[in-house]
Amino acid sequence: MSEVQILQSVQQFMARQHGHFIDGKLVAAELLDKVDIVNPSTEQVVAQISIGSQQDVENAVKSAEHAFQNAWAETTPYERGVKLNKLADLIEQHGEELAQLESLSTGKLINISRHLEVAQSVIFLRYFAGWATKINGQTMQPSIPSMQGEKYTAFTLRQPIGVVAGIVPWNFSLMIGVWKIGSALTTGCTIVLKPSEFASLSLLRLAELAIEAGIPAGVINVVTGKGETGQYLIESPLVKKVSFTGSVPTGIAIGKLAMSSDLTRVSLELGGKNAIAVLADANIDEILPTLLQVTFVHQGQVCASPERFFVHHTKYDELVEKLSNALSSFKIGSAMDEGSMFGPLSNQPHFHKVKHYLDMAKANKQIIAGGEALDQTGYFVQPTLISFKNTDDPLFSEETFGPVVGVMPFDTDEELIQLMNQSRFGLTASIWTNDLSKALRLIPKIEAGTLWVNMHTFLDPSVPFGGVKASGIGREFSDAFIEDYTELKSVMIRY
Ligand code: NDP
Repeated sequence: MSEVQILQSVQQFMARQHGHFIDGKLVAAELLDKVDIVNPSTEQVVAQISIGSQQDVENAVKSAEHAFQNAWAETTPYERGVKLNKLADLIEQHGEELAQLESLSTGKLINISRHLEVAQSVIFLRYFAGWATKINGQTMQPSIPSMQGEKYTAFTLRQPIGVVAGIVPWNFSLMIGVWKIGSALTTGCTIVLKPSEFASLSLLRLAELAIEAGIPAGVINVVTGKGETGQYLIESPLVKKVSFTGSVPTGIAIGKLAMSSDLTRVSLELGGKNAIAVLADANIDEILPTLLQVTFVHQGQVCASPERFFVHHTKYDELVEKLSNALSSFKIGSAMDEGSMFGPLSNQPHFHKVKHYLDMAKANKQIIAGGEALDQTGYFVQPTLISFKNTDDPLFSEETFGPVVGVMPFDTDEELIQLMNQSRFGLTASIWTNDLSKALRLIPKIEAGTLWVNMHTFLDPSVPFGGVKASGIGREFSDAFIEDYTELKSVMIRY
């Protein structure tokens, strides 16, 4: 297979002088400083983005506030749904362009960009569009005693919270950006997005498509930059809610900042050290292809994917042998090569972080398969299987956010539950078995926001998603997001 031909529209977009997208147009940044966007497959600079100053952020927030008070507030729920569906159509039409921007800047395999990131963005956006016409309050019957024949009634209104700050990580910037846009716009809010400095291009392009879709200027704004730009956004008094997806340390800092900015509402979707349990009855040959897919998709840089495998001792040797053989046959290569099965890590700092964990595992003789950073251009490491020494092992507890998976045998159900729950995180977990009765007994005991049986990692807009323990606060999708993006106003009437 050979490299995919880069579309002319993608080449032109990458070559632009990128500023910020504010009030419906690309505007020049106040600061001249730029950040290089590096293709992780080649280490070549493919584009440059701007760093958002406090003034740039303020301009974006004011534009979002104006659009909230005027243009967007004036639309009916039906119109909002229609415009979000139109944006979904445009994402679909520009799918190859958006997929290439993602693969060139984040090293996501082109087929994952096309069939997961772009395709799922369309599915999620259409789901959110459907909610626009279904967000309602309730009526109540108060029990206040009537003294002179008066009566009472009450109802609630679900009102949009206002300007939302959406802070997006680099791993699925388009899709996670779309989750935030869909949640905000369908409830009547407007948004300022701050993508990761490593992955801003697809959201800058999406903001242009939103104007083409008829979404009024100022409803979606994008200010690029580093962490500091995100901080300005959270501190803005006009921002009424922060929706953050990223790491636990940044999430905690953002939560504190939001609380000290006049109790700005905050939802945090954070990291995980997700566990899977392979029970004694599991058929290893049957589950292996799915296990490999859900674990190593996007080189393991998925918040929901598993990093800890607990395997019943009767199946441990078989699973380890078959996993090791499968990993050694992965074809590692450029993200833009349709024949690659496994691409580079997304950026240089993350490559060094994962390499540090590989070196640690090597020093402690824990490597079962893989374990090497490739001695070539690009941020490539091998998909890696390690054995956990014990539960004090940092590799047991710290999120690598990479293709580094540890295995450990277990004997009893009690031991399994204890091992799975031995983590500060609680994002996702899964049980691999055909013994449904046993799975149903284990599910309530496992501390995770999402629990799968015979699957892992894949999300659906109809199913709420979020973490317990240090994996976050709040839920996305289904009807769970509505509370986060609206205020519940109570109205009582005496008549
Ligand atoms: P980070 O926490 O480093 O960054 C996330 C976003 O926050 C980026 O846009 C970043 O900008 C910005 N940021 C960094 N510091 C600050 C700050 N002080 N104030 C405001 N914004 C700031 O996470 P990563 O981008 O490295 O993403 C990986 C992490 O995200 C992993 O832990 C992963 O598990 C988690 N994640 C969770 C998901 C979930 O749904 N639960 C989904 C996907 C990822 P910049 O990048 O420019 O520094």
